[in-house]
Amino acid sequence: MPVQRTLSIIKPDAVGKNVIGDIIRRFEENGLSVIATKMTHLSGSEAGRFYAVHAARPFFADLCSFMSSGPILAMCLEGKNAVTLNRQLMGATNPKEAEAGTIRADHADSIDANAVHGSDSEENAAIEIAFFFSDLDLHSR
Ligand code: UDP
Repeated sequence: MPVQRTLSIIKPDAVGKNVIGDIIRRFEENGLSVIATKMTHLSGSEAGRFYAVHAARPFFADLCSFMSSGPILAMCLEGKNAVTLNRQLMGATNPKEAEAGTIRADHADSIDANAVHGSDSEENAAIEIAFFFSDLDLHSR
């Protein structure tokens, strides 16, 4: 399995619930290393830029307002098969459909406030990592 990097975001709902440590523990216990972190509070237009791919979707405005409603923790994760592994640990977008034991099953309240973001492909991971981090911020093991 290839070593990959992926972008994870702990969203405002999960930051507000004080479960940052529990989420990072799951990554580390499953072989993913945190190689960069940034806590930030996006503006509505920054959230719109990050989620530009969803601009035409009906939930876009609500998504941008939710993602700019409080601080987030952006992280670059590295490890074998990191993109798919992170998505497995996150669980389905809708927490009602998320497998038991996943981050969203345990911490998400709804399809909007669903605790975490994770890149969905290696190509998007590179774009999303560059949104938050420069090469100098990334500290590979
Ligand atoms: N989203 C939403 N309503 C929907 C679908 C998605 O609010 O009906 C939000 C939700 O926060 C989700 C994000 O938009 O995490 C991006 O959607 P995507 O389908 O890419 O899901 P993800 O990759 O986050 O599982």
